[in-house]
Amino acid sequence: GVAVISASPADPLLVVLFFAVALLLGLIVTLPIGGADMPVVISLFNAFTGLAVGFEGYMQDNPTLIIAGIVVGASGTLLTQLMAKAMNRPISNILFSPITGNGSGGQAIEGSMKEVNALDAAAIMRYASKVIIVPGYGMAVAHAQHKVWEMTALLEEAGVDVRFAIHPVAGRMPGHMNVLLAEAGVPYEKIYDLEEINGDFPQCDVALIIGANDVVNPSERTDKSSPIYGMPILDADLAHNVIVIKRGKGTGYSGVENALFYTDNCRMLYGDAQPMAGEIIQYL
Ligand code: NDP
Repeated sequence: GVAVISASPADPLLVVLFFAVALLLGLIVTLPIGGADMPVVISLFNAFTGLAVGFEGYMQDNPTLIIAGIVVGASGTLLTQLMAKAMNRPISNILFSPITGNGSGGQAIEGSMKEVNALDAAAIMRYASKVIIVPGYGMAVAHAQHKVWEMTALLEEAGVDVRFAIHPVAGRMPGHMNVLLAEAGVPYEKIYDLEEINGDFPQCDVALIIGANDVVNPSERTDKSSPIYGMPILDADLAHNVIVIKRGKGTGYSGVENALFYTDNCRMLYGDAQPMAGEIIQYL
């Protein structure tokens, strides 16, 4: 960089070399980062692009570029910090973590997943008094939020208390689930953050998990070998009954197996979240 700047006029070969080395450095720093840490790094790099634009504006004496760069840089930095905090990891630990391969890891889990059908799931919820719904990335992919709200309204008509528990990194960006639920018309007072609702799971009859995985994985509390160890989770495993809607035995974003799915109080309702919510509505 110094050589490029001090040579006047700039040597084109040096400029090409500079960008090649920068690219290589970017690859070396980024390749070891995997699993759930990836969006954090992308967000950090976005912030850096903003800062680069800001510097360019400074060099060119262009206030528009400076302001735009600072806005992008500052918001990207704040978003990165929010994500890292929600995952309970310092940014330095995310950036300089050891190579984790494909993100798999964690202790082996014993037991089997037990299936339930939509009729039984509907019945369990219809005769419950408290239901907490935990939406995740799968609900977003399936565009199931409208059906989920329709189902909630039916349960409430039948006298069931239904609330939504939102993990700060559910989905693929902070606030992802809040936006989807708001779009479907779910009132704000039904939507609770992790700290507000976690204490209520032990008194709740049914935790209905819709396309969420990593945010309810109980091994994050205890399994030090897990790549997502230490991330705070929604305590859905403490509910009397847990029903999980997902398409199959796929892992979450981090690639880690979920111990919750193998517990005695957990039943799997296999299928795409939208048609499954539709079936539950029919039976309700
Ligand atoms: P996950 O990505 O962990 O799990 C989503 C689950 O949804 C999968 O197990 C998948 O299982 C299921 N699924 C996928 N498509 C469908 C469908 N159409 N219908 C029903 N189920 C479906 O989601 P979470 O929301 O629990 O966790 C978010 C992850 O993203 C965390 O690891 C978090 O750290 C990470 N992350 C989030 C950020 C944020 O800001 N929100 C930022 C950084 C990282 P199957 O394939 O079997 O259906």
